[in-house]
Amino acid sequence: HSKDCVKVAVRVRPFNKRERDAGSRCIVSMVSNSITIQDPRDSQNRRLFCFDYAYWSHSGFVRDRRGLFVPEEPGGRYADQDSVFQDLGEGILENALQGYNATLLAYGQTGSGKSYSMVGYGPNKGLVPKLCERLFEDIRENQETRQCQVVDLLSRASRTPGGLRVREEQQRGFYVESLRTVPCESASQVAQLMEQGTRTRTTAATHMNANSSRSHMLIILQLKQIFSKESITKQSNINLVDLAGSERQRSSGSEADRLKEGTAINLSLTTLGNVISSLADAAVGRKVVHIPYRDSVLTKLLQSALGGNSRTVMIATLSPADICYEESLSTLRYAERAKRIQNRAVVNESPTE
Ligand code: ADP
Ligand code: MG
Repeated sequence: HSKDCVKVAVRVRPFNKRERDAGSRCIVSMVSNSITIQDPRDSQNRRLFCFDYAYWSHSGFVRDRRGLFVPEEPGGRYADQDSVFQDLGEGILENALQGYNATLLAYGQTGSGKSYSMVGYGPNKGLVPKLCERLFEDIRENQETRQCQVVDLLSRASRTPGGLRVREEQQRGFYVESLRTVPCESASQVAQLMEQGTRTRTTAATHMNANSSRSHMLIILQLKQIFSKESITKQSNINLVDLAGSERQRSSGSEADRLKEGTAINLSLTTLGNVISSLADAAVGRKVVHIPYRDSVLTKLLQSALGGNSRTVMIATLSPADICYEESLSTLRYAERAKRIQNRAVVNESPTE
């Protein structure tokens, strides 16, 4: 029963076309695991933040023949998908295999690199596919000593009018009712389901006259390991969460739609922020009466990941550009609070039935 803080990483991406065309300046710099952000209108105004990891993915890269982003020279400072996986992904997998629940959250404004880090694009595979590949490798290697079962949950929310219900049980905590659970045998099967899930997310957003960057995507891998010799079963969940864009919601769509959707998304990210704040206060010994988990579906489902039975990692993604100063600063502040949260993760094991 150990206390462990949420681990926080920041990552800054290359300029995009829009930023290059606007002649943007890079306002962030990194030295080992600290990051400095500078107010573009006031050169005296700098803020320094320290995190568990800071990834410089802004410059110093080339694209190799396969289209992979790699450091310009071996050992260069550019942080590629592999180095992020080595630091964050391997730990999450290791924890899950030991029987701990593990959670990875990606937070940041739209276009800052959440999906790039979590899922990746083309040959630049992100944390989730790399983690799945490694998981199934591990399963193959240990086939004689353990029986493993991995299950992916795919929501049918889009086909259910009004969406699926979130319920609460004493033992289980909050869960989504009648989610589809798909047993998986390979990393490519998981990849296929994820593609399907991403398509569903986009279609659902279009139907609601919205943008998919306004929805959260939760990927839940359920891992059950049966150690036959010891007669022990370990069960752990890996929660992989690509959050909605953190930017303040601007108007789009009809007034009514905008209000409905805007408030719901704002509410869940605001509630997540409130939960994080309360937990951060509690961690430094301030008296906290109430953690508002129940105020949004998102925080209900992430309850164990936040201050509960999970080892949790947050990756906060940033644009490097001066024009994104306000959003980037607010992302860094959010991430700084998350760093203070303390969880109490336990190995979920029981005698095999
Ligand atoms: P988000 O999911 O936060 O809305 P994306 O992950 O889709 O943003 O990233 C937006 C664009 O920036 C994509 O075209 C992606 O390829 C690019 N990008 C993001 N992070 C990186 C990175 N670390 N290295 C190279 N390109 C990146
Ligand atoms: Mg995205």
